Amino acid sequence: MTIDSPLTELKGVGEAQAKKFAVLGLKTVGDLIDYYPRRYEDYSQVTPINKLRPEAVTIEAVIKQATGRYVRRGLHITEAIASDATGSVRLIWFNQPYRAAALKAGQKYFISGQFELSHQRFSIMNPSVERVSDLPVNAGRILAIYRETKGLTSRQIRLAVHEARQIIKVMPETLPPQITKSQDLMSRSEALLGIHAPLEGGQLAAAQRRLGFEEVFQLSLASLLNKRENQRETALSIEFDEKLAREFVSHLPFKLTDGQRRSIWQIYQDLQKQHPMNRLLEGDVGAGKTVVATMAALMAMAQDWQVALMAPTELLARQHADTIHGLLKPLGLEKQVVLLVGSLSPAQKTKARAAIASGHAGFIIGTQALIQEQVDMHKLALIIIDEQHRFGVEQRKTLMAKAGHMPHVLSLTATPIPRSLALTLYGELDISVLDEKPVGRQAIKTEIVSPNSRAQLYESIDKQLDEGKQMFVVCPLITDSTVLDAAAAEQVYQQLAQKDFKHRRVGLLHGKLKPTDKQSIMEQFVCHELDILVSTTVIEVGVDVPNANIMLIESAERFGLAQLHQLRGRVGRSSDQGHCYLLLSDSSAPTRRMRALSSSNDGFKLAELDLEIRGPGAIYGTSQHGQLDLRIAKLTDTKLIAAARAAAHKLLDQNENLLQYKHLMKNVNRLRTVTNLN
Ligand code: ADP
Ligand code: MG
Repeated sequence: MTIDSPLTELKGVGEAQAKKFAVLGLKTVGDLIDYYPRRYEDYSQVTPINKLRPEAVTIEAVIKQATGRYVRRGLHITEAIASDATGSVRLIWFNQPYRAAALKAGQKYFISGQFELSHQRFSIMNPSVERVSDLPVNAGRILAIYRETKGLTSRQIRLAVHEARQIIKVMPETLPPQITKSQDLMSRSEALLGIHAPLEGGQLAAAQRRLGFEEVFQLSLASLLNKRENQRETALSIEFDEKLAREFVSHLPFKLTDGQRRSIWQIYQDLQKQHPMNRLLEGDVGAGKTVVATMAALMAMAQDWQVALMAPTELLARQHADTIHGLLKPLGLEKQVVLLVGSLSPAQKTKARAAIASGHAGFIIGTQALIQEQVDMHKLALIIIDEQHRFGVEQRKTLMAKAGHMPHVLSLTATPIPRSLALTLYGELDISVLDEKPVGRQAIKTEIVSPNSRAQLYESIDKQLDEGKQMFVVCPLITDSTVLDAAAAEQVYQQLAQKDFKHRRVGLLHGKLKPTDKQSIMEQFVCHELDILVSTTVIEVGVDVPNANIMLIESAERFGLAQLHQLRGRVGRSSDQGHCYLLLSDSSAPTRRMRALSSSNDGFKLAELDLEIRGPGAIYGTSQHGQLDLRIAKLTDTKLIAAARAAAHKLLDQNENLLQYKHLMKNVNRLRTVTNLN
């Protein structure tokens, strides 16, 4: 047997069960070994029966009489009595008719389950039972709980893993020996045994540390190698024209924040260098990233180079084009702004492409339409990627290939993650942070509203609409379905337009509309020809309508924390007080996420909290590109992350031949394709 053997080669796994494993994506023994538990339940402490408390318990006891019967159709109950030296307790199983026959009277077992009240008597409910032996698999120890599927329980998965032990024991080491040694890490095979079948808590913790360290170490190594490669490339050095920068700033209707000033300065330094910039501009929603990006572009345009800005949606691309057009107008550069999106007419597209190819278009703004074949940019010096986590690596690479040489890259993100994490996850890039909101902005007031207060809420909103304000209504999220989301939005729209707000002008925006329709509805809203815009999450990113300062989110509990914060960022974009109402779909208590959101406006804080709530691996806002998800390492474990990064740096500094670490480099090379922003 090898890691490539089909699961049916494991004792006890037949064709039928292999099909169930396949539902979980597990086909080979190697897949199974790589299938880490979601969590653990600790049944390692044996409790005397007379000391049992209502919790997860393990007893070591002899079974007396076990009997099964149907109490009614479809409900079978097995009851047994278990005794140790201190007393007896009842065991109950529902719908496991095979139980009674499988239990031998007089035999000693580990019995692990929940001790709880059932029909006025304390019993151990649905326990797992295993004969007392040296190495129990399913009782009397810490039990791994896996993601299960119909007909395949954690119990069965544990048995299969148990049968794979001999393979796990000879799994090759993947970390360089000097690192396991200096970091005091257990071997890979020990760690895998420990993660699936820990004998005690200490072993589990050490296994998690080893595997978590390895994840971050590999990511760091991949990032560092990418960075090295990037630095060997040459880029166009873009001169800094101070006069031009000053002139641009003098026309702004506001004063730049310190963060904006600092970021722009850092970018200008980078652009003057001979090797390509790879910088991430991190700033919470509304922090003012667009001006910074425009100032970066300005320098390239001034020297007759081209700049391309790629945004994730057409709405956003159009809005950027408008904003940037306005920002460049005082300098007479606005004619160089060219929009290229899918919904342009063929004639418009041809015109745009011609302007791009001739170099007349200095600032090209678009969606993925920019990376299509027919688009020919020969003077591209700088690429700006808005909401970078929304794009895959391939899309970013294709855009860069348009330059024909290595362009400078500025990525914008509203996903605030701690610095050491960003470095690890996104490659060793440089980071600028906009850590303050423009002055005069008031914090958005966020309220959780239970469904029975809807009427009062509408009344108070109506007063605000009377004062000339506008409102976004965001419709419930129906998992991953644009069609269903659109239907839900349609319903909310009907309700508001025909009943609750029939005296107001209500518009509807969802992903199923034609781009031109989306565009015209958005324009109506911007021009205040609509008071209320009912929408799906298509407005999640970037949309900027300062007069709209009310947002109502339906079934708010269905959204993730990051997404709610992004959505909320659509309001409070002027000096007026912004309001965000989180409507719950039923009157149960608001979750921790909701409460966090209503008590904080700080994206960085919320990001950390999100990490905490979602636990290991879940990286704020990056779910679309799951390749990077850490499975074991906790992103909040800054010590582990720092140690793993330092070890990666050290290994590279030693100038060893990395090819000797075959297994390591196989993983690292895969990661290199997903970590780099370039
Ligand atoms: P985001 O970082 O979310 O992309 P935007 O760039 O869209 O934010 O900016 C949000 C709003 O704030 C815009 O209306 C913009 O004109 C305004 N803004 C940007 N910088 C400042 C500033 N320094 N002072 C006041 N308003 C600003
Ligand atoms: Mg933006």
